[in-house]
Amino acid sequence: MRPEVRHLEAEAWRGSEQPVAGVELPGIDTDPPSQEEEEYLARVLWQNEREILAQAQDALTRIAAGTYGLCVHCGAPIGKERLDLLPHTPYCIDCARKAEAGELD
Ligand SMILES: [Zn+2]
Repeated sequence: MRPEVRHLEAEAWRGSEQPVAGVELPGIDTDPPSQEEEEYLARVLWQNEREILAQAQDALTRIAAGTYGLCVHCGAPIGKERLDLLPHTPYCIDCARKAEAGELD
């Protein structure tokens, strides 16, 4: 083997010895979620749970008041299928759509 080839081989070998763990892959997010992201996720989940809990408590109040199954906005009966799916929903399907669209006053 000629000396210059040996030299190139040595160069190549050194190159492969670069620490692989620290390699940056631009544009590819391979990191596990950071603590910030995890806290954000936990907060969102917690808010959802609290919202459902609040709706369930409202539903219990409406059962006690005898208005359960009636839309709190327009007073229309909420469909049985809808109540089966979302027992705690305060709105009929029409008002729920408006509420989601931000059109409910
Ligand atoms: Zn309604």
